[in-house]
Amino acid sequence: MSDFALCPNCREYDWLEKHRCAPVFYFKHPNWGDEFQKIHAYTFEEAAENFAKKYNEVDHYLMDGEKEEVIISDGKIEKTFIVHAEQDVAYFADEKEIK
Ligand SMILES: [Zn+2]
Repeated sequence: MSDFALCPNCREYDWLEKHRCAPVFYFKHPNWGDEFQKIHAYTFEEAAENFAKKYNEVDHYLMDGEKEEVIISDGKIEKTFIVHAEQDVAYFADEKEIK
């Protein structure tokens, strides 16, 4: 039986028995120094989105029009992205029991 858990390498939750880590990209934020840091993704765009998620989770606000610039590299090519976030609205319908 497989465990659904956090992969210690790429930090994604998945079924660990069949999990394969996404390829490695690198990101650099202008205010976080000159060193590129590792981030897992399948595309440049996904790497930028994963950076946005990480940025939003570590005490930085990235909602309601806030935008940040990030440089993504695959080790050869560098691309610059402007990232931003929106909240999703979840809708629910609970049927009311009529007695
Ligand atoms: Zn992994």
